[in-house]
Amino acid sequence: MRVAVIGGGPSGLVTLKYLTAAHQYFPIIKPIEAMLFEATSSVGGVFFHHSYEDGEMVSSKYLTTFSDFRPKKDDPDYYTSEQYVKYLSDYASRFDLWPHIKLSTRVEAVRRQDGGGHVVVYKGEDGQEVEYECDAIAVCSGLHDKPSYPQVEGIENVPEVWHSENFKDRSQLENKTVMVLGSGETAADICYLGMTTPSVKQVVLCHRNGWMGAPKQMPKTILFPGLRGYKDEDFEGMDPFDEKPNPIDVSQSTLFDTMYVHPMVRDSMLVWDHYKLIALDGSWLVAGNGLGYDQWVGALPDERRHPSKMFFNKAWNRIQPFLVPPYRPSDSEIPWAEKIRRKLVGTPWCDGGRYLDLAPFPTHFSSDGAAHFKDNGRIEYQKLKSQVIKPDLVIYATGYRQTFPFFEEHNSSASETGKKPYPHANKADVRNLWKRGDPSVGFIGFVRPGFGAIPALSELQAMLWTMSILGRIDPESLKEDDEYHYRILTPPGSRVRYGVEHEAYSWQLASDMGVAPGITDVLKLGWNGPKRSWYRLPYIWAGGNHFNAKFRMVGPWKWDGAVGVMTGELWETIMRRGGLFGNFTLVVLPLSGLGTASLLAWLWCTFWAVLAFFHLAKPVEHVNHLKNIWMENLKIEEEMKMKGMDRMMVTNGNGNGKPIGSMNRMENENRNTSPLKENGHGNRNGYGTT
Ligand SMILES: Cc1cc2nc3c(=O)[nH]c(=O)nc-3n(C[C@H](O)[C@H](O)[C@H](O)COP(=O)(O)OP(=O)(O)OC[C@H]3O[C@@H](n4cnc5c(N)ncnc54)[C@H](O)[C@@H]3O)c2cc1C
Repeated sequence: MRVAVIGGGPSGLVTLKYLTAAHQYFPIIKPIEAMLFEATSSVGGVFFHHSYEDGEMVSSKYLTTFSDFRPKKDDPDYYTSEQYVKYLSDYASRFDLWPHIKLSTRVEAVRRQDGGGHVVVYKGEDGQEVEYECDAIAVCSGLHDKPSYPQVEGIENVPEVWHSENFKDRSQLENKTVMVLGSGETAADICYLGMTTPSVKQVVLCHRNGWMGAPKQMPKTILFPGLRGYKDEDFEGMDPFDEKPNPIDVSQSTLFDTMYVHPMVRDSMLVWDHYKLIALDGSWLVAGNGLGYDQWVGALPDERRHPSKMFFNKAWNRIQPFLVPPYRPSDSEIPWAEKIRRKLVGTPWCDGGRYLDLAPFPTHFSSDGAAHFKDNGRIEYQKLKSQVIKPDLVIYATGYRQTFPFFEEHNSSASETGKKPYPHANKADVRNLWKRGDPSVGFIGFVRPGFGAIPALSELQAMLWTMSILGRIDPESLKEDDEYHYRILTPPGSRVRYGVEHEAYSWQLASDMGVAPGITDVLKLGWNGPKRSWYRLPYIWAGGNHFNAKFRMVGPWKWDGAVGVMTGELWETIMRRGGLFGNFTLVVLPLSGLGTASLLAWLWCTFWAVLAFFHLAKPVEHVNHLKNIWMENLKIEEEMKMKGMDRMMVTNGNGNGKPIGSMNRMENENRNTSPLKENGHGNRNGYGTT
């Protein structure tokens, strides 16, 4: 069998590794012949070509590295882009992948062959087109492909405009008033560099509809501060992240959360509501506000403030000291509940001394280059409306679109040639990996976890897809009903429809492959494993994250080193949780809550099943609520499309979630007219002031 892999980022490399190693795990006659094509001169993907100064990953080394090639003991918790590219390059060497990699080779076209299979077309060293015939293609060309530029009228009046993909270092910001469009992690990184560059005149962060700030590490808190002699003012200037805190992405327990969950619980909102309790209400307990960690401005509107509907901004702690202080309530303003909380939990906080300005997304720029904003009903608008902001530089940190230009030629002639067009990643409806009925085209790396790491998910995807093309998975066993419990339920009209909950998605893929270890496996492996693994393995299996090593302990991809990784290196993630208290809140509490829910659901269903057995009643009918919500959202989206609406409702964003209208194409077209035409001095009614 021959397979082409398009892209040499983390997803492409890990896919190549599983393809080339498959014959060691499955009794196939010949090893798979695989070739990886990478357009740039290095492996590493965005970490090679989109890296910038001081850019640190937001997922920890524990989660982002692959199951059988672990980080070094003294590696930092978070790699820089350069360190991660080095890790990936070492990974390629360790598994002898280089002979299967063609660098500086862009795939220009892919087409289906008569009778099955595909032809991949690329340019050889002499510039001539070369064809590579294969049986299957792994598309690993990345989620972050083409920069997305939302249209802002009059942007051409700004002296300098570019996308964050072109951001390299702080020297690009020096002596400028910088406006950053977008409120994600890259935006936070750029604003941080702006704030810490003295010559930068002003930094304005423009957001559409809020964000949820979550630090990537457990912030320090001091319990019962009064009893321990602390006063409120002692917390000002204390760094909440100074004591090597545990990364949050490895702080989830998984028993009864994804493992041994009753289907009735799994397919309801209960687990999501439980995350809400931990993430939002927990953030109130830790820092006094449930809008985000110590977040007093830029909240998500009510209807989106739920973990099932959003992505956390894990670079939040970089800008928090420069954004929050002016908005944090003073002693006289704090509500009584917060006063009580402060007696129970002391929260350190820092003041950056220099402040980042916050603004709504600009509606337009007038001919003199001044930004205009619409009143979004939020506090920052009130602060900003008397200022004239004329940025020297606007940076779009507005994300990326996925494009698959190599399919275009084939797809444009598909109706004439009678050949099936290639799907795009958004049509991959089997575990977000391939389109039902078209398994030889795999999309690996096209999911985004709310909290977690894409490369780790790509590893599991690569394992499943490899099994699928080898015929080791019965397609009928991949039930459609299991597609919904892991999906982030982004609202209709959302650009990002590929969000997943890291742990739920991992467990689903592992279950599909038969590599998800049960309690008896774990007890047996722990008993026979290295020293101390008899208690460490069951504990980390239940109270730790779904590290990929967990899925290499049993089943077809079994690797002998996996138990050692779990009970050695990964045990650290348990020990660093803050001792007994940390483990009580992160393991005992969630396990007992969700465990009770599953037990009750099981008792309820068993009770009715027993009655049904004696023909006394009907068994409980299973309802997949999450599927119903997803389908309902799709229906609304379809209706929106029919009505010609480009975007879903634009909410006023002041937290009450009331729509202030919907933006349709007609309105967009109206926006394209020059503001100068409307009242002659560039100040449109209702569009705020400069
Ligand atoms: C600044 C930044 C920081 C990030 N930090 C994190 C983080 O901490 N944790 C995390 O999980 N995710 C992070 N991400 C998300 C990150 O994009 C993914 O984790 C990661 O890139 C997934 O790897 P990939 O291999 O799927 O895609 P990519 O890294 O995008 O790799 C795709 C590769 O395909 C190549 N390619 C595309 N088209 C062709 C073609 N026609 N022919 C040949 N080659 C082609 C590209 O050159 C590229 O090298 C970050 C993203 C950015 C932009």
